[in-house]
Amino acid sequence: MPRWSIHPFAKTYVAGESIDETILAVKEINARGFTCTLDILGEHVQSAAEAENITREYCDLYDVITAENMNCNISIKLTHIGLALDKNIAAENLIRILKQAKLHSNFCRIDMENSTYTQQTIDLYKDCVSIYPNIGIVLQAYLKRSLEDARDLNTLGFNTRICKGIYDEPETIALQDRTSIQDNFFQITKEILSGNGFAAIATHDIPLIDRIDEWIESTQVSSDRFEFQVLYGVPMGSRLERLLDKGYTVRQYIPFGKEWFDYSLRRLKENPKIMSYVLGNLFKR
Ligand SMILES: Cc1cc2nc3c(=O)[nH]c(=O)nc-3n(C[C@H](O)[C@H](O)[C@H](O)COP(=O)(O)OP(=O)(O)OC[C@H]3O[C@@H](n4cnc5c(N)ncnc54)[C@H](O)[C@@H]3O)c2cc1C
Repeated sequence: MPRWSIHPFAKTYVAGESIDETILAVKEINARGFTCTLDILGEHVQSAAEAENITREYCDLYDVITAENMNCNISIKLTHIGLALDKNIAAENLIRILKQAKLHSNFCRIDMENSTYTQQTIDLYKDCVSIYPNIGIVLQAYLKRSLEDARDLNTLGFNTRICKGIYDEPETIALQDRTSIQDNFFQITKEILSGNGFAAIATHDIPLIDRIDEWIESTQVSSDRFEFQVLYGVPMGSRLERLLDKGYTVRQYIPFGKEWFDYSLRRLKENPKIMSYVLGNLFKR
């Protein structure tokens, strides 16, 4: 696909190519009461040197966040720092990032990629969390294993984002229908909040947000035990402002960087439905 055809898609969901554009976007979003998480676009690096460069960029990003006084943490993909090459390379790079996050009293969340990497990601998370509690992980509600993973991991200090899951996964391991995924999302959230964990509830599905919000209110879960998360650029009406008005934390996930084209193309291939959202947004503009 030509770059021009992807550009409108990318512009909606990516803060920019440079750090300067991204700083402006984060500050504007912070000023509206939202917190942010930054993701340097890219995944599946081809060499250890590339993984090292990305690791350095992430470490530098913590310096920028502190210097610019932004209310913002970082999300990373383990294949971006070498997991597909060698687990040890990814582990070393992850620890460098976690040390830097700790130095800045900040936080790092490991995004969850396709199921090839689920167990390795959980293993790395477990290896790190006792030494670096400023780490979080992601559980995907479409995976049949995720509720069990939530039970297993849900001890003090467990911090997970719950999302539906973006990759194409087979029926043997993943729920396929919308209602079952919504139900599993709700169960995982309840499991975490009924235990000791922190839940980052990452969805644009308003009926699901409503359902979780009602449950949170009825059980009076303390608002420092959870937050809501959305992707930058996804239209949500006034639902996010209503969450903010209740005193809840709402975080926007902001991807940026030079890899916007490949990233956008991959997202489109994984979920061609997204293009219809973008076209909808364009026409609304
Ligand atoms: C903060 C955050 C972090 C994430 N991290 C991961 C991760 O680490 N691993 C992973 O596998 N997945 C991740 N995802 C993606 C997630 O798994 C879903 O694929 C994605 O969020 C769409 O699911 P949904 O819950 O919004 O529900 P859906 O049922 O897909 O969407 C609900 C409604 O939201 C709207 N909507 C959804 N997506 C878009 C969009 N892109 N543009 C415009 N409107 C849209 C539509 O109107 C739709 O009807 C993340 C999502 C968020 C919000």
